[in-house]
Amino acid sequence: MPKTNDQRPATRIGYGFDSHEFRLAIPLKIGGITLPHDKGLGGHSDGDVLLHAITDALLGAIAAPDIGALFPPSDPRWKGADSVIFLQEGLKRVRDSGYSIANIDASLILAAPKIGPHSAAIRARVAELLGVHGDCVGLKAKTPEGLNLENAAIAHVVVLLEKTSRPKKTAPRKKASKKR
Ligand SMILES: [Zn+2]
Repeated sequence: MPKTNDQRPATRIGYGFDSHEFRLAIPLKIGGITLPHDKGLGGHSDGDVLLHAITDALLGAIAAPDIGALFPPSDPRWKGADSVIFLQEGLKRVRDSGYSIANIDASLILAAPKIGPHSAAIRARVAELLGVHGDCVGLKAKTPEGLNLENAAIAHVVVLLEKTSRPKKTAPRKKASKKR
């Protein structure tokens, strides 16, 4: 083992929440896949409520700025953006901090469409995006009983990180070319 004064915690927890409103005749993206439905989730980006909550959970776990600070809705670059971009930035920051994902657990709250038939596909896609085993992605779907939120989709996510290595210095990424 290398000599180290690494005082960082062995594990860190992160929590993310997001909500979006349904709008007619736009694609419905949840967890990086497009679900068949007559409405999609409005937003400045593609409105992927689950990927946004996962991204915020990752960023929160390492006490980084949140998704709204990193990708402000006022910035035209993120108009209609694929939310995978946001997730990848969160993941990069986690890895650069010297942590990896142990597991995530998510709850989706929406009246329709039914998530059950798509649950396996969403979990598989999220696991692929995060580079973890499918067993490390939990997903539950609930209807908004008593909440009077029939036209919204909500996601809650927790993530557990494990320390893997020393944090990377925040130097620009370059291929090391050894001088001989
Ligand atoms: Zn969002």
